[in-house]
Amino acid sequence: MLKNPFSNNSLLKQYQDLVSQINILEDTFEQLTDSELRAKSLTLKKQYEATQELDPLIAESFAITREASRRTLGLRHFDVQLIGGLVLNDNKIAEMKTGEGKTLVATLPASLNAITNKGVHIVTVNDYLANRDQVSMGQVYRFLGLNTGLIQEGMSTDERKKNYGADITYVTNYEVTFDFLRDNMALNPTDLVLRPFNYCIIDEVDSILIDEAQTPLIISNNTQTPIEKYIVAAEITEYLELNTHYKIDEKNKNVVLTVEGSKQIEQILKVQDLYDPRDPWIPYIINALKANALYFNNVHYIVQNNRIIIVDEFTGRIMPDRRWGDGLHQAVEAKENLPIRAKTETVAAITYQNFFLLYPKLSGMTGTGKTAEIEFEKIYNLAVNPIPTARPVQRKDLPDLIYKDQFSKWNAIAKTCNQVHETGQPILVGTTTVEKSEMLAQLLSEYNLSYQILNAKPENVRRESEIVAQAGKKGSITIATNMAGRGTDIILGGNITFKIQKKLYDILTLAKNFKLSKQTNILESSILSQFEGSSQRFLSVLLSLLNDDNFMKLSDLEILKLLQENDRISIPVISYQSSIQFLINDLITFNKKYQTQENKIVKNLGGLYIIGTERNDSRRVDNQLRGRCGRQGDPGVSRFFLSLDDNLLRLFGGPQIQNFMQTQLADDAPLESDLITKSLDSAQERVEERAYQQRKNLFDYDDVLNKQRNIVYYERKQILENTNTLSIKKNILAYGEQIVTDLLLELKENKFYREKTLSLIENLLGRNLLLTQLKDADSLLNTYDFYELKLYLFEEFWLTYQSKMEELSVYGTGLTENLERSIILLNTDRIWREHLQKMTLLRESVGWRGYGQRNPLYEYKQDAFYMFETREKLLRHLVIYDLLRASIL
Ligand code: ADP
Repeated sequence: MLKNPFSNNSLLKQYQDLVSQINILEDTFEQLTDSELRAKSLTLKKQYEATQELDPLIAESFAITREASRRTLGLRHFDVQLIGGLVLNDNKIAEMKTGEGKTLVATLPASLNAITNKGVHIVTVNDYLANRDQVSMGQVYRFLGLNTGLIQEGMSTDERKKNYGADITYVTNYEVTFDFLRDNMALNPTDLVLRPFNYCIIDEVDSILIDEAQTPLIISNNTQTPIEKYIVAAEITEYLELNTHYKIDEKNKNVVLTVEGSKQIEQILKVQDLYDPRDPWIPYIINALKANALYFNNVHYIVQNNRIIIVDEFTGRIMPDRRWGDGLHQAVEAKENLPIRAKTETVAAITYQNFFLLYPKLSGMTGTGKTAEIEFEKIYNLAVNPIPTARPVQRKDLPDLIYKDQFSKWNAIAKTCNQVHETGQPILVGTTTVEKSEMLAQLLSEYNLSYQILNAKPENVRRESEIVAQAGKKGSITIATNMAGRGTDIILGGNITFKIQKKLYDILTLAKNFKLSKQTNILESSILSQFEGSSQRFLSVLLSLLNDDNFMKLSDLEILKLLQENDRISIPVISYQSSIQFLINDLITFNKKYQTQENKIVKNLGGLYIIGTERNDSRRVDNQLRGRCGRQGDPGVSRFFLSLDDNLLRLFGGPQIQNFMQTQLADDAPLESDLITKSLDSAQERVEERAYQQRKNLFDYDDVLNKQRNIVYYERKQILENTNTLSIKKNILAYGEQIVTDLLLELKENKFYREKTLSLIENLLGRNLLLTQLKDADSLLNTYDFYELKLYLFEEFWLTYQSKMEELSVYGTGLTENLERSIILLNTDRIWREHLQKMTLLRESVGWRGYGQRNPLYEYKQDAFYMFETREKLLRHLVIYDLLRASIL
């Protein structure tokens, strides 16, 4: 039963009945054997089949899953976790603090919704987490007779299809969205990998639906790129002066040319008009200036293997597959003197915003959702419900310290690290950029402090989870760019599983290399001495591995995968899985005592000390950093160090604050002031509001395209999955008849189109009509009444079509049907692709039109509507035209 401290919580009231029902069932289910429990799970499926109702099954399903988890993982869902699960099942966002066990919470609604046989997707932010969660939580599902799938980068179509076919599939946001786009370009029903969407749980939902919501995911083809122009534009920026020739609008991340600037450039280039639509220079110049003034190496991007790799501002992660659009990426490449890669043409695109709205039932989990509540409600119709913690929060958030300038601030941070480190309390410092993390690292070196650094640089990313897992060890200092390592638990005293995996990895790979150089004797004794006190069984398993020639032939990577219980290990390696697992478990038990001790020591030191070095653009990101400590009732401290010239204060703090502070602040003495903290809070809210408005604006624009996409994808799917060839034929015939009817209608309305109409039809059919001989004689043509003419033209079309089909049918049966389907699909895609380009241009041009009295969004919608309307007509025409000219080579 739930007790205080949440007795007044309305959420609790709402779910109290269900939680009690689940708890009451616990005793009964505890008594059941494993197979009886599994049989219960099967009964639920049958019940659902009969009634098609999920709600009456909630309590039983949750109770079964909880019992299965207790038996397989040894974890029993807390009551607050049950509430989390209920919230997720109610299409809402469960806000649960870090360490509250969201991974386990998801098993409850996932098992329940898997009962429907329609599939459940659990979406995580990276492949590592998808793999980890699938492997661990999969044990619960399998116990219940449900199967799980896992999608990873690089998987083949067949593997994907199989994994999406599972009851519960773990997948990243990126992979599932691309699979959706690819499915909608498939020419063959067997290439489809996804089933119709059913239920989705998004982990770290704010990161996906808010931070990443705006950048569309794009599948594209290369197009012609005027490389020379990018290079010249980059060179020209050297001859331009800030404020004389151009101005920077930092708040909106924009650059504007002055009149003088335009003149200067026109002179250098010797062109009349930068804006000349036949030879436009302006986009290249603006992008080159933006690249110089607003996009910085090691902040917004890093250079790796001669390429520009974007760094995500919110998470500090690199995004190797993304490129900035509209020529900005090329401009940055030109600035860095790198090879300029071709611009691309979009063939399919969708934003996460619109993608996730396709699920009939959507839900999400995060540690930090409340401050973005309005956005979740308005855009996704998702309410945010904060779930009480299982144990009371003990974290202390100390008031911000404000310094006069960057110099004093960073020195104070280094000094604090030094002082705190002397006590042994572990420290985690969050920085906003790669550059700053490296700068702080240098300062710490001056204090002779050792530290681990975690930023978007690839050499660090590889060790990401390991570094974060050890961040809670006594005396450790970890510097991490925002939210790196999110999803990995920071355990006070260090994470022994990681430590053990690493120790075994070092030893096994070392042994392998020694073996290669045939120095085995020295080796064995030195290895065994490292495991003094271990059980006999442990030593003999280890020795048998060391003496197994086949094992010694494995690559380092294969050994690593074995140790990490990676699901994708190759067949010959699988036989070693149980030995390795035994070694790990034995060492864990052996080291548990040591771990508990360490954990206690660090708790007594006050837990993890979190240092924020700058307020971020949103309170959510600050809270994510703070949330890294104080998990599951652990002690912990957080403090932000700020400076007057931090971006947020500088851009949004307002002049009074600046004046006030300049007079109040001594050189290195900080200020703790409510006024400043309040002003920062409101500055942050303003930035959040602005970012929200921008996303909302994008959403409103994208809405039009989204509706159109839904229509096109729906119609396309009808054709693709239609196995009834007769009905495709009917479609084709209807297309032809509709073209004729449309043309005749035009003819009827305006007699001057007579000749044109006929020649259009002749052009379409690819042959002359009998009527042509009569076409000059108006009177004769008039003797045909409308109906008769139509019938005549229909017959001509049927005839042409039929003879084409006969001509093609000699190449084999079934060929014409496939051909017809492919021609419809290919043309649907072609028209959609062209529509996408037109919509992009339209989007740019309405921006300009907005200067008049007109509402740009309204204009955009109108034009988009007309552009879309012509689509069907065009499709019919292209399909018939192509089909009647088809030949087999
Ligand atoms: P979150 O994603 O909410 O930060 P995790 O899912 O990473 O949290 O879980 C944090 C830790 O808590 C994990 O080590 C997990 O095994 C543990 N945990 C979760 N639920 C329970 C439970 N009911 N009982 C005991 N430990 C739990």
